[in-house]
Amino acid sequence: LDIKPEDLKELAELGQGNGGSVKKVEHVPTGTIMAKKIVLIDAKPSVRKQILRELQIMHDCHSAHIISFYGAFVVDPNICICMEFMDKGSLDGIYKKHGAISIEIVGKIALAVLEGLTYLYDVHRIIHRDIKPSNILFNSKGQIKICDFGVSGELIDSIANTFVGTSTYMSPERIQGAPYTVKSDVWSLGISLIELALGRFPFADSSSDEESDSDLENTLSPGRPGSAIIQAQVTALPNIRSKTTSKKDKRKSRGVSLQGGGMTMSILELLQHIVNEDAPRLTPEEKFPTEATSFVNSCLLKDPDARPAPKDLLKHEWIIQSRAEDVDLEGWAATLD
Ligand code: ADP
Ligand code: MG
Repeated sequence: LDIKPEDLKELAELGQGNGGSVKKVEHVPTGTIMAKKIVLIDAKPSVRKQILRELQIMHDCHSAHIISFYGAFVVDPNICICMEFMDKGSLDGIYKKHGAISIEIVGKIALAVLEGLTYLYDVHRIIHRDIKPSNILFNSKGQIKICDFGVSGELIDSIANTFVGTSTYMSPERIQGAPYTVKSDVWSLGISLIELALGRFPFADSSSDEESDSDLENTLSPGRPGSAIIQAQVTALPNIRSKTTSKKDKRKSRGVSLQGGGMTMSILELLQHIVNEDAPRLTPEEKFPTEATSFVNSCLLKDPDARPAPKDLLKHEWIIQSRAEDVDLEGWAATLD
């Protein structure tokens, strides 16, 4: 399928993310409904060509838990990626509208993401790099698939030079500048699963009320121009390991903008918190099966050497149980509208 920009009819806006937007479109010649992602990048034509070449790997990614790829093209100066449209959207949208997701379904989500990650890595040596609820998609057939993985080294670099994910799903070792490994994806999965099961981002300050929760969320919303700077600076901060702030200081400084680039304290503090404090847990423990809490605890081992890889986690008791369990995902999808 050779997709030309003029063959696409825009139907709806699906969402905005870091340096881009996603639209529901129809490929008129074939009647195929697709999701078209526009990636805003500022790269030389030669680099854009290289990115397009690298994106072609996605044509070879075939897994039940990976979003299908239709094609990519350049619309000056941006890159458009056409992919499978998932009619129930992403899991962040689902839980924000319908509340916390039951642990049986979260088990199926964990299984799907692990299978997707294992496929990407075993078959293509691809590390996802951006696991979070908005990159886990769902459809009315009850299928769970991951999207937005780092296929193109050039694209990763180009984005890093402009916008970067605020990456509050980033592992402690990544925050401290270590390179990405499959284990960083496992950390991000752990954070995402807690978020889905609790119905809220797990790092919200326990002393905070509703108001400061949304304040935190605002500060962390992606696409802020400061993000790239934050990541660059945090990676370069040697003392992030040792710095701790008291709760009182945290509250006082939350939302205060530092000069230059709209950087706010709370993001730095959050990253610092991830590095310095105990990892979040799936609590209250009595509400969840012990296998589920044990699984999340393994994902969130702060030492990447101790943390299992996706392939190892496929053998975890909770995943074995989740695989065997009969959960009506199609039925669940029908309740989401
Ligand atoms: P982010 O993942 O940071 O939210 P994106 O630009 O990747 O930003 O995506 C924006 C939104 O578009 C997502 O949150 C998701 O809800 C929606 N979206 C992305 N890809 C698809 C798709 N293939 N099908 C349906 N919705 C999608
Ligand atoms: Mg995304």
